[in-house]
Amino acid sequence: MSRHQYDLIQCMKQPGKSVGLVCPQCDGKCPICDSFVKPTAKVYICHDCSLGHLYNKCITCSNYLGDNCESGVPAYYCLECVRQEKHREGCPRIVNIGSLKSDMIFRKKKEATKSTNGLLR
Ligand SMILES: [Zn+2]
Ligand SMILES: [Zn+2]
Ligand SMILES: [Zn+2]
Repeated sequence: MSRHQYDLIQCMKQPGKSVGLVCPQCDGKCPICDSFVKPTAKVYICHDCSLGHLYNKCITCSNYLGDNCESGVPAYYCLECVRQEKHREGCPRIVNIGSLKSDMIFRKKKEATKSTNGLLR
């Protein structure tokens, strides 16, 4: 079940006006730290994640929520993440691997560039 856990990455784009929905199983779960303690701030997701094939899927586990999201419930950040302002970092939707491999490689490159600070060129 959690074989991909280490591969999960979050979208982190600028959140829009769409509320992030989760399935009944993830109801009350913080999308950042998986805590069920003190849900505090409503989750907003970015434009891209509120459209297309993603809009009726749970933002944390990608469970199908029905054609009109009828089994979806709004997601909340826990108090701890709000305190640390993690809810301001961007769209918390879990975007799965595979299609985003290139994005991950890009991120790694960015990291590498940062740490070598141009020494290679
Ligand atoms: Zn879920
Ligand atoms: Zn949290
Ligand atoms: Zn997003």
